[in-house]
Amino acid sequence: MISFEEARESVVDHASKLGTETLRLNRLLGRYLAEPLIAQTDIPLFDNSAVDGFGVRLQDVANASENSPTQLSLAGTISAGDPGDMGLSQGQTIKILTGATVPADVEAIVMREFCQEQNGHVLVKQPAQASENIRRRGGEFAHGQTVLHPGTRITPAVLGLIATLGYDKATVYRKPRVAVIVTGNELLSPGMELTPGKIYDSNSYALRAALVSHGVEKCSVMHTADDLASTKTTLQQALAKADIVISTGGVSVGDFDFVKDAAEQIDFQTIFWRIALKPGKPVYFGKLGNKLLFGLPGNPVSVLVTFHQLVKPALLKMMGAESTDAKLFPARLTKPLKKKAGRMEFVRGVVRTENNQLVVHPTIGQDSHMLGGLAQANCLIYFAKDSESLQSGDQVQVELLEWSAN
Ligand code: AMP
Ligand code: MG
Repeated sequence: MISFEEARESVVDHASKLGTETLRLNRLLGRYLAEPLIAQTDIPLFDNSAVDGFGVRLQDVANASENSPTQLSLAGTISAGDPGDMGLSQGQTIKILTGATVPADVEAIVMREFCQEQNGHVLVKQPAQASENIRRRGGEFAHGQTVLHPGTRITPAVLGLIATLGYDKATVYRKPRVAVIVTGNELLSPGMELTPGKIYDSNSYALRAALVSHGVEKCSVMHTADDLASTKTTLQQALAKADIVISTGGVSVGDFDFVKDAAEQIDFQTIFWRIALKPGKPVYFGKLGNKLLFGLPGNPVSVLVTFHQLVKPALLKMMGAESTDAKLFPARLTKPLKKKAGRMEFVRGVVRTENNQLVVHPTIGQDSHMLGGLAQANCLIYFAKDSESLQSGDQVQVELLEWSAN
């Protein structure tokens, strides 16, 4: 059995970036850039005002104060969008609004809160510092500078920046097509009447939702009976339409577990099977060409935890993310935890801030069939492979269960 860390690393090594496509701005959210984006001009492109105020020459207002304001004559107004090609002579001021061009003669802008406008004159009640309230040309990015690097996730802020740079489209990695195969003769769809021995299929819904919330758009769900021939046929059909196939159930050591055999018989290379991990010990990972197969366990909690820990890094790598690392942070455990040494365990928890400290409460219902404990949780607590106990008050590492790619 390989360790969880080895399994995760191996998944990332075997996943490869998909092809690219060029999309318009409104379709870029959540994608990863496949090209650097370079400033096509200086940004800002021209000196402009950070405030609503009055443009001055420093010397004119050097002695201005609340009690003895300096009077300047108002030479004009420049508002946002105006070219602003005006001169400023000694003793004059120009009203300049936020975002408006600042002419070369203007050395600083005094906020309108410190000025009083009356009859074509302005009383300035404060001296000014050079460049005060002026956003200088090129102050953020210089023409030709690389602003965004390949692998950057396109968040709302990044999207805004791409627009600021003047690009109306960008080249990003395409999204993986995923096929989910649900195994299990005991399964019925929600809404149907349960007959003896049957349960409702929850995995197909939960897994599909996890995929969709990670940006997967093309996801088909297939069902197979627990026999080798059907499992093989379904796998082949799934392969024809997907970059990643994810099965649930049928991957353990039971008499009706056929995923691994079926995969090997249709020439998948087994990269690993079984991980020193709880939940998620039976996970199978195989590869055929560039296509990946994750044989996830059947238990619903194991499905989502292993999705989060193993499938998600593969999705990120394929979608071109710069980093697939988990983001861990420390929190204080509120309850002791026990386990046997030998398997890394992900305990479902609720992390929150109490008295300015992050604390984490393990949820009730930690067995791998108990979705209730995961449904309440917002994080996974890392319980190291060879550790047997954690005490209340111990600092533990937690990872947020964010159902989105990041
Ligand atoms: P298996 O790995 O196929 O032996 O399944 C392990 C456990 O997960 C069994 O109790 C199954 O009934 C349950 N299980 C498998 N698939 C599903 C599913 N799609 N929805 C809910 N429970 C499932
Ligand atoms: Mg089964």
